[in-house]
Amino acid sequence: MYTPPSSIIVFTLILIATGAHPEQPEPEPETPVTRFQTYLRIKTAHPNPDYASAVSFLKSQAESIGLKTRTLHYAPNKPLLLLTWPGSDPTLPSLLLNSHLDSVPAEPSKWAHPPFSAHRTPDGLIFARGAQDDKCIAVQYLEAIRNLKGSNFNPIRTVHVSYVPDEEIGGVDGAAKFAVSDEFKELKVGFVLDEGQANPGDEFRVFYADRTPWNLIVKAEGMPGHGSRMFDNSAMENLMESVEVMTRFREAQFDEVKAGNAAHSEVISVNPVYLKAGIVSGDGYAMNMQPSEAEAGFNIRIPPTVDPELVRKRIAEEWAPQARNLTYQLIEKGPSRDYMGRPLMTPTDDSNPWWSVFKQAVAAAGGKLAKPEILASTTDARFMRQQGIPTLGFSPMTNTPILLHDHNEFLKDTIFLKGIKVYESVISALSSFEG
Ligand code: ZN
Repeated sequence: MYTPPSSIIVFTLILIATGAHPEQPEPEPETPVTRFQTYLRIKTAHPNPDYASAVSFLKSQAESIGLKTRTLHYAPNKPLLLLTWPGSDPTLPSLLLNSHLDSVPAEPSKWAHPPFSAHRTPDGLIFARGAQDDKCIAVQYLEAIRNLKGSNFNPIRTVHVSYVPDEEIGGVDGAAKFAVSDEFKELKVGFVLDEGQANPGDEFRVFYADRTPWNLIVKAEGMPGHGSRMFDNSAMENLMESVEVMTRFREAQFDEVKAGNAAHSEVISVNPVYLKAGIVSGDGYAMNMQPSEAEAGFNIRIPPTVDPELVRKRIAEEWAPQARNLTYQLIEKGPSRDYMGRPLMTPTDDSNPWWSVFKQAVAAAGGKLAKPEILASTTDARFMRQQGIPTLGFSPMTNTPILLHDHNEFLKDTIFLKGIKVYESVISALSSFEG
């Protein structure tokens, strides 16, 4: 046990008497990690993301490193922050670094540390909703630019950074509107980097396409009847036949994944998400009645390698044919093809000069890229690809479990810092390339 000399005790008593607080630690000096933590503590989860605080923090950071800032609105109370670092040759197409401001909700009771505490453990794990998806890249872009500016690097191409709202709810009032806006056209974007995903292994993952989400609602109508009677074409029979046909299709796709012939993201996924039927009676259902209506909902994901028209045809002819008294509603959440009718895929070979520069820049920072992948889910990148702009999904996180949208989402401080170095290399290379 440590016993302080009496002179320290007296000194402490004087400080307490004069109202000073020696027990309060000095405020920690700001570092890239503490700035990351500050951003993580802003409550950006749906359904009420605090966009104002997020934008105000990022804007002050951007101003502190001398970037131009603009706040755009494509819907009320949904700001989009755009930062610009002008290049020496504004006639060249620019580089855009995108990330979304919002996060999915978190259930605090399921977390080891509160999801907006950004608690950092002694071994450097920073716990927060958004630590991986995708507040890490939001801050890494800024830190990389801060370091490049500090080393007197000057870009040839202009570098823009966009922070968009609502990605987690489909991007309708965010990237979707931004990508078709006059402001976006004026940026003359030649290449976009958007969010990717972590890798438990030691290679960086990179995504050249997303799957397109479709929601399908199949409705059946038929003769109602007594529960005891057997007759053809009841609503339930017709719907269940559809469910069976779709289940067989699903199994065939899944078998390709199980056999190792395709990744999850390379097949069409079809998953039932709800079933609705029956006549409600009291606390339960009328068990002696066959209902005249029945309905099922499906989540479908289409990879860009599949012709969406063939899937539309299959739905109309096999999954919900009129002949079986079925109707359907198909909601396509986002584009499947670009403005030229081409699949939304960014080439990852020598035909795309941006790819070669990007790949070399990652290697120059000591990183290795994994085989480029299609993302199984969806990001805002699809709206950029729809404009015909090459776009890669990339969040530099190696040796990190994939925890986006999961409980206890975290990122290790050293991985976060290494990502800044990777972006320094990538941003300097992409903004210097004149090809
Ligand atoms: Zn995300």
